[in-house]
Amino acid sequence: MSREKLTEIYRLLYDEFGPQHWWPGETRFEIITGAVLTQNTSWANVEKAIKNLKSAECLTPEKLHHIDTEQLANLIRPAGYFNIKTKRLKNFINWLFENYNGNLTDLESIDTDRLRAELLAIKGVGRETADSILLYAFDRPVFVVDAYTARVVFRHELIAPEADYEQLRELFESSLPADTRLFNEYHALLVRVGKEFCRPKARCRGCPLEKLPHTLDPEYF
Ligand code: SF4
Repeated sequence: MSREKLTEIYRLLYDEFGPQHWWPGETRFEIITGAVLTQNTSWANVEKAIKNLKSAECLTPEKLHHIDTEQLANLIRPAGYFNIKTKRLKNFINWLFENYNGNLTDLESIDTDRLRAELLAIKGVGRETADSILLYAFDRPVFVVDAYTARVVFRHELIAPEADYEQLRELFESSLPADTRLFNEYHALLVRVGKEFCRPKARCRGCPLEKLPHTLDPEYF
């Protein structure tokens, strides 16, 4: 049942919005950096920080390993919470150098569950960030969950409102084929519909999912 509903939601969103071309980033490390910086800010602000890092020729693990903390904080300042995010980036880099000689390609051979566990053990890397790195930087079939995802599936009665991150991830991963391209596009489409229609105050009129059964309970949002 969930499989049919989730497939229908995907089809309607894709038909309306088309491919979203995620994740924007020229290199694997740029994707990882973006995944860390995007927490609690808009993508436009992340782009400014990434642009600063590129202009300073600092967007490589080696450069970020050696860069002074204060200098890094100044470069990523546009992304907001720059002191916290500097620590998070440094935590990731330190883990990479302490365990894998700073070599991202060494991570390719690690199985997904172990890599996920290792990423989650890095201070400041939460589930959404870890799963974004797994899906978008390492092409692993892991479904990325965020507030938009939760809102859409709660409102379309696919899961109880109290479901946590892992239950939401399990809903998608157990209902859909483990297809990296599908998970990539599906997450991006949910972000799109969440930003344009399924806001805290839903704008169902004109939404691509309007014709599907849904419920809006203000106590949840
Ligand atoms: S805005 Fe309404 S129709 Fe669109 S996804 Fe949200 S609940 Fe569904």
